[in-house]
Amino acid sequence: MNYIIIDLEWNQPMKPDTLITDPVPLYGEIIRIGAVRTDENCGTADTFQVCVRPKFYRRIHYMVKKVTGLDSTALSYGLPFRDAFRQLMEFCGEDPVFIAWGSEDEKVLRANLAVHGIDDSSVPPFIDMQIIFSRRHTCDGRQYGVVPATELLGLPTDLQAHDALNDAIYTYRIGRKINFTHYIPDEYSVILSEIEEEKRIQREQRYFRTFYGVESVRTAMHSKKITTCRCPECKTKLWHTYFVFISERKAVAFAKCSTDGEFLVTLKFTPVAENKYDVTRSFTIPSPQQRDEYHAIIDEYTERKKAEKAQISEDAI
Ligand SMILES: [Zn+2]
Repeated sequence: MNYIIIDLEWNQPMKPDTLITDPVPLYGEIIRIGAVRTDENCGTADTFQVCVRPKFYRRIHYMVKKVTGLDSTALSYGLPFRDAFRQLMEFCGEDPVFIAWGSEDEKVLRANLAVHGIDDSSVPPFIDMQIIFSRRHTCDGRQYGVVPATELLGLPTDLQAHDALNDAIYTYRIGRKINFTHYIPDEYSVILSEIEEEKRIQREQRYFRTFYGVESVRTAMHSKKITTCRCPECKTKLWHTYFVFISERKAVAFAKCSTDGEFLVTLKFTPVAENKYDVTRSFTIPSPQQRDEYHAIIDEYTERKKAEKAQISEDAI
């Protein structure tokens, strides 16, 4: 098997309205490709680099200029993307697996193939070395850049970073040091399922979350953490109605997301030891019956609140 440790540099559109969106959004147009080819033992290391002449974003974005040190002139030479990609695939040889630092390179490569109308089925599977590093080496789950990771391992940082080939070399050195090939494929699959499971739990917590040992019902109702509603789908902060008690231990409100629709937000109070409560907040799609019944209760409560406020201001006069 050939491991191809790949790094891409890409340019960005100057303004949001110059973003290419057809057939997919092109957030980064590839301008440099760097790669190191190695085997299961990280024995040999052959290198590859190519300059790509951008077709869509020909003026360099100031941030890209700042990071890579390239200017617009540097973008005026190089191979058309199609030829550069062909050369890369030739370099890969038999049975390649792509290794990148992070997940961005794969997304950018696939988007570039799409805008050039090139079928991406020839792209080898991608493995993210960064998650192997952070979940099996440092085990702290932090996202390290290649240079900080290199430093952490006590390896030399003698190369100029943000150069496609140099970053691929850094990634190769890190991989060799942590014996990355030992994690592929089995342990890497375990890592991916761990990440999936964490995402699932996070998603579930957005729909359904318990706050433990809350002092009182009053405390809960004044707690921003408990009563602030974020859309469980898109995480946007949502406008919501008053929370109104529909029984002694249950308060409801409606929250509306412009994208994902209306949610019934329920706070359920379960008494626990020392006169405290566990408060469970849930987001559900209301049934038509709940919608009618609770909206009527909440509307009435809202009217009463308004009247009270009006009365207070009248009294003040
Ligand atoms: Zn939403």
